[in-house]
Amino acid sequence: MNELNKFPHNFESEQFLPLFTPQELQEITQNLADQISKDYAGQSIAFIASLKGSMIFLADLVRKLNGVKAYIDFIHLQSVGRTKESLGSFSILNDLSIDITNHHVLLVKEVIDVGRSVDFLKKRLQLENPKSLEIVTLFDKPQKRKVELTPKYIGKTLPDHFVVGHGLDLDQFGRNIQGLYHLKYPN
Ligand code: 5GP
Ligand code: MG
Repeated sequence: MNELNKFPHNFESEQFLPLFTPQELQEITQNLADQISKDYAGQSIAFIASLKGSMIFLADLVRKLNGVKAYIDFIHLQSVGRTKESLGSFSILNDLSIDITNHHVLLVKEVIDVGRSVDFLKKRLQLENPKSLEIVTLFDKPQKRKVELTPKYIGKTLPDHFVVGHGLDLDQFGRNIQGLYHLKYPN
């Protein structure tokens, strides 16, 4: 399946190398859903997904759960003043809309890299005094991590490569690609 035609013509498709097939991504996600279903059996969980990249992962993950009640909500962060040298900070474009106080919360991320965005999201969620707060990330890229955080659920640990597809974008393109690709020449 060549899906790289989902990018505009000016993207050089030979720069993208396949990393995971759609089927492999489903298996990775099933694995995470099984662990979560086991750990939270019979309980309810508020899944708080970080927009936009985690939308595909969230949709897959919650459909694979068994025996738990899932609440779903979204937070959309915007990074402010971010350059290569300075990581800047964040503003909240779209905040929580459900009550998570005294609820089990799982923060849903597609990828954690430096970790600043998850760190910010964690602090935001902690203000609501959830009963518990854990992180589930489809991909973890710990090499450039600048903050201390330990996601409880990790789909795959990846080297420091920029990945695209399955919700993750390159300049807003490629979120609709079903497989995962990495860039041959990371910048
Ligand atoms: P952080 O560096 O704060 O952990 O991640 C910030 C954001 O950078 C992520 O939420 C994600 O949007 C983006 N990001 C980090 N690594 C990648 C990657 O490999 N591919 C894509 N498409 N986005 C990434
Ligand atoms: Mg992006």
